[in-house]
Amino acid sequence: MTTKLLLTFAICRLIVTVGLTVDPSELLLLGVDGQLSVDPFEVETASLDFGLLTRAEPMAVLHPGSADDIARLVRAAYISSHGFTVSARGHGHSINGQSQTSNGVVIEMSGGSRGSRLGLRKFDKPRVSVKEKHVEVWGGELWIDVLRSTLEHGLAPKSWTDYLYLSVGGTLSNGGISGQAFNHGPQISNVYELDVVTGKGEILTCSEEKNSELFHAVLGGLGQFGIITRARIALEPAPQRVRWIRVLYSNFSTFTRDQEHLISLHGNPISRKFDYVEGFVIVDEGLINNWRSSFFSPRNPVKISSIAGNGGVLYCLEITKNYDESTADTIDQEVEALMKGLNFIPSSVFTTDLPYIDFLDRVHKAELKLRAKGLWEVPHPWLNLFVPKSRMADLDRGVFKGILGNNKTTLHAWQHGTVNVYLSHYDISLVKCPHALVIIRPYTWDQRSSAMTPDEDVFYLVALLRSALDNGEETQSLEYLTNQNHKILRFCDDAGIKVKQYLPHYTTQEEWMDHFGDKWDQFYRRKMEFDPRHILATGQRIFNPSLTSTGTVSPW
Ligand code: FAD
Repeated sequence: MTTKLLLTFAICRLIVTVGLTVDPSELLLLGVDGQLSVDPFEVETASLDFGLLTRAEPMAVLHPGSADDIARLVRAAYISSHGFTVSARGHGHSINGQSQTSNGVVIEMSGGSRGSRLGLRKFDKPRVSVKEKHVEVWGGELWIDVLRSTLEHGLAPKSWTDYLYLSVGGTLSNGGISGQAFNHGPQISNVYELDVVTGKGEILTCSEEKNSELFHAVLGGLGQFGIITRARIALEPAPQRVRWIRVLYSNFSTFTRDQEHLISLHGNPISRKFDYVEGFVIVDEGLINNWRSSFFSPRNPVKISSIAGNGGVLYCLEITKNYDESTADTIDQEVEALMKGLNFIPSSVFTTDLPYIDFLDRVHKAELKLRAKGLWEVPHPWLNLFVPKSRMADLDRGVFKGILGNNKTTLHAWQHGTVNVYLSHYDISLVKCPHALVIIRPYTWDQRSSAMTPDEDVFYLVALLRSALDNGEETQSLEYLTNQNHKILRFCDDAGIKVKQYLPHYTTQEEWMDHFGDKWDQFYRRKMEFDPRHILATGQRIFNPSLTSTGTVSPW
């Protein structure tokens, strides 16, 4: 009863604020299978995201019970004379408020706080077709649950993110990238079919063959064209185990040459290529000293600090080879043959062996440790850049060894143990940031999708994944790290390095037009077709919602 009263109150506020002409009882009686909620705790959860950098308070939160619920809500927003905004929220792991909306309704696709508290999940488990090698999943499903379900059938998706507590709809709205991308492309290249609720409230099935314009628009589409309620994802036989290897370099060009050589093997038979290739840049001497104990068995006697050249910057190549019982006999030879062609520091080979699921779910272990230390729910001023291969050496000089490498205060603080965390690899990446380099081959990115990549055959994803800490250390403060991000972007601009932001964040439409370049006209046309009132995913700040009484779209 109290909830109903609160909800009526919230809907009345919606009417007052945006002139919503849907009768409150009508919205209450939309007949949703799930629940519309104004619970302050849920509204608070939906007001924030992983970045903890922005805040936008919605009027209400919808826990959908079905795709029809979402269609009903979006249709109500679309047909009302004044309109209101609707944002799908996956797991809320954006950085800059991309899944937030003020004065509108947030749809908790993955359950949100209420879902996790009450176990409120009404959706079917992922449905695996062993014969067709695909899985049908709800758009808010987390990748970890997709993996668990498919493993029951000995199958697994082909392309991953480093972290699995992200939603299917959330990563498909961006790209979904990890070290498998050189082989299989990003996650958006591994989807067969989608169900999408458009900004007009229609539920459409789309694929390469059917409603293909919507299909390509939604993939990498930043939530602008519709809400993904179902995805059919490609599967492959799941390997049982993973050989996980790290090697170090002190020379940047040797490091990138080896990475580029490894991805050039993508067309080889499985036995003659790695399954995953990533790299890390370690700019902090304190981290270098921690490196060995952090991840690898202490059997290896190498003194890492003694091999760091070039002003203390080290580069780490991370590679894996999947195998199972049938290939266990040959794994050593296969790995050895592949490593022969590489030029890493000979004494720096670190190897571990683990079940496939443990490798894919590796970052979650770090999350638990960071949560226990109170270091997970802190601001994350992350910056992700796609950088053309031809300009990586400039980035190394100007950013890794320049803007970031000069950060001696951080180094000093670290050596004195100011941040007292026992480091595993991902503790490092999330707290102190080696900058992940993931090589990606562009031709596996379907240029018909909405995702933007640099205009070059090979490009890298440079991910600066840093956490701001309020510990009195200036170089770890949010302000300092944010300024460094601005400096990096300015450096790229001044040096003419044509980077593209991944998980992009801009605040003006001019910047978005620049981001999309030649693709802007297509992006705009698709928006006008699928979300003409601009009510979806307004947290991306690309289009101004049309909340006027005439129903016309107001210019930005
Ligand atoms: P949200 O942040 O909730 O939403 C992101 C955007 O998608 C919003 O605009 C939202 O409105 C829209 N959206 C959400 N659901 C839907 C839907 N069903 N239909 C349409 N639009 C929708 N990315 C990588 O590529 N590789 C990585 O290795 C990687 N690692 C990460 C590790 C961590 C710890 C974190 C926090 C993020 C990582 N990311 C990575 C980034 C991640 O892909 C993005 O945060 C992405 O937005 C997914 O998060 P989410 O599911 O919580 O979506």
